[in-house]
Amino acid sequence: MNIGIVGLGLIGGSLGLDLRSHGHQVWGVSRKEETCQRAIARGAVDDASTSLTLMKNTDVVFICTPLGVMQATVEELIPYLSEDTILTDVGSVKGWVVDAIAPLWENFVGGHPMAGTADSGIEAALRNLFVGTPYVLTPTETTPTRATQLVEEVIRPLQVQIYHSHPHDHDRAVAWISHLPVMVSASLITTCMGETNPTILELAQALASSGFRDTSRVGGGNPELGVMMASYNKAALVQSLHSYREALNQMITWVEQEDWIALEAALKQTQAARLQFLR
Ligand code: NAP
Repeated sequence: MNIGIVGLGLIGGSLGLDLRSHGHQVWGVSRKEETCQRAIARGAVDDASTSLTLMKNTDVVFICTPLGVMQATVEELIPYLSEDTILTDVGSVKGWVVDAIAPLWENFVGGHPMAGTADSGIEAALRNLFVGTPYVLTPTETTPTRATQLVEEVIRPLQVQIYHSHPHDHDRAVAWISHLPVMVSASLITTCMGETNPTILELAQALASSGFRDTSRVGGGNPELGVMMASYNKAALVQSLHSYREALNQMITWVEQEDWIALEAALKQTQAARLQFLR
């Protein structure tokens, strides 16, 4: 197929690398000429340009820009598409994106590959980034079945686990397991940096090992992405942050009151519950 990718960064570049290796022709558009040249040199695209005219013979187009420019990008793109072209996006938030884009283009299905790294830009693009990871599609009552089927046909060879959900259900679910962890992990780093004794802080930094690496990883990622998650999934994120604060207050109470029985019971429950999120 002729596949278009608009936004040649971590996700767009990684999709390009894999889709080309599965025999598709991949055409890329990015904002900067330099990015286009790097995408060609890295083998992420057959050709790339800063002009959306390159999208004119595509069968499927993946919008891989930051969330904040997706709607404007689609508005600019539409004059170059043939009416059969299927449009999809990779945005980390789906309610807002689907509400904004579905009225603009009938053959649109929202998508979210649940894969990434802490890096961004075309240099961060990786082969096989999506292998074994969930890929959520968010068709609504008005999404043509053919649009969903064609996107599935393109992404299935990347060895992803395909899920379908309503856009707003997706946003509530990812608030718990993706957006809340970013805020919690960032707060952990901020709290540790609050140590006022420089000797203790330096010692803590020297002693930090795998536990800190695991719990701080998502809080040390791309700040722009964190702000996008918060601003475009505000309601679900605020709700999850309030619930988290309640859980933290409960922990404080147990420790202050030396209620080790209640603490142990809670930790036994979380030990078992964690596995249900990592099946
Ligand atoms: P990224 O590495 O920063 O890539 C985005 C790319 O879009 C940039 O390299 C930029 O290229 C290009 N771009 C920016 N504005 C543009 C415009 N107006 N027109 C065309 N291209 C433009 O970000 P990313 O991590 O790949 O994220 C892209 C999308 O994937 C976001 O919507 C995000 O929500 C979603 N997502 C991210 C992750 C993750 O973990 N990172 C996971 C799943 C989904 P130039 O250099 O040309 O400006």
